[in-house]
Amino acid sequence: MAARLRVCFEYDKRGSSVAETVLLNIALVGGGIGGLTAAIALQAQGHEVTVYEQASGYARVGADVNLTPNTVRALDGLGPAVA
Ligand SMILES: Cc1cc2nc3c(=O)[nH]c(=O)nc-3n(C[C@H](O)[C@H](O)[C@H](O)COP(=O)(O)OP(=O)(O)OC[C@H]3O[C@@H](n4cnc5c(N)ncnc54)[C@H](O)[C@@H]3O)c2cc1C
Repeated sequence: MAARLRVCFEYDKRGSSVAETVLLNIALVGGGIGGLTAAIALQAQGHEVTVYEQASGYARVGADVNLTPNTVRALDGLGPAVA
């Protein structure tokens, strides 16, 4: 799927460009932890994100969840919405 660009410019009173935001429509293939984490992070930046997942649902696998320090830092960086 081709990315569609939305470009926003902000100008100061003299007409000089002070900020530029390029927002994208992004397709992510795979709704695992990697895909969903990327989707949340990209949405937080203002991008439109669609996640395509082949599985019809999520199911328990009978295992525990162990979060390493790097993982916890990454989740903290995404904010309270992922807690
Ligand atoms: C039993 C078990 C216990 C684990 N416990 C831990 C743990 O405690 N802590 C830890 O850090 N890690 C754990 N892991 C490892 C962890 O689950 C993986 O490292 C992690 O899920 C990888 O995430 P991912 O998003 O890269 O891939 P995945 O989780 O594999 O997600 C990929 C997704 O993409 C989808 N997909 C693939 N191809 C397509 C396609 N063509 N179109 C659409 N969708 C597609 C798949 O259906 C899947 O949902 C465990 C793994 C297992 C199996």
